[in-house]
Amino acid sequence: MTYVFNRSGTMKTIQLYLEDSYLRELDAEVFEIRDGVILDRTIFYAASGGQPSDLGTMEGTRKYEVTEVTKLDEIVHRTDFQPTVGEKVKLKIDWERRYLLMRQHTAIHVVSSIAMKEFGAMITGNQINQDYSRIDFNFKDWNSEISKSLQTRVNEELRKNQEVTVLSMKRDEILRMEGALKVDLRLLPSTDTLRVVRIGDIDIQPDGGTHVKNTSEVGEIEIYKIENKGKNNKRMYFSIHK
Ligand SMILES: [Zn+2]
Repeated sequence: MTYVFNRSGTMKTIQLYLEDSYLRELDAEVFEIRDGVILDRTIFYAASGGQPSDLGTMEGTRKYEVTEVTKLDEIVHRTDFQPTVGEKVKLKIDWERRYLLMRQHTAIHVVSSIAMKEFGAMITGNQINQDYSRIDFNFKDWNSEISKSLQTRVNEELRKNQEVTVLSMKRDEILRMEGALKVDLRLLPSTDTLRVVRIGDIDIQPDGGTHVKNTSEVGEIEIYKIENKGKNNKRMYFSIHK
């Protein structure tokens, strides 16, 4: 297997989840200790793009709990005790939690894309959680009927067993993609090619998150709350069910 999306920018750590989001365990080596543990390679997702970091364990001369993973100039794993440089460790992520986050992440792309394309909502932010996700958007007269129609449309699309694929695309190709650009290209890694996530014919956009392979894995979404956040700004909450 050749790793196309193994690193972000100049980072030393190979981020294997960018290639394969289904890896639950991995052997790695401690490369450096600085603010936390820096590894030669990892499967721990570092909090970014609205997706929280993975939790889990790192087993070497003892078992270390991984309590937080952040993306600084390197991927930094915070642990309860500190291993030593050169120590060989077996990484294990909390898979149950991660898989829920993957389902939520794919769901949030589908909800955002349909809310935008079919209902004219302007998405301004999002946050993924294990149990629910929220989307901030701009829409003046949103009501419960619209929520219901959006929910129905999203679930129709999810049930179509649409494949989720990770592609490598050139920056200028991305710029030419119609309706795909919901992110500011300047916020993305400065590399010439970018990691792009496509969800069937529903959504395509540059993304560094972990997703399921097929929309059927998401299950069904339920929009359970809309909050007013200022004049035209709303906050929508949804949960997912199998
Ligand atoms: Zn995303």
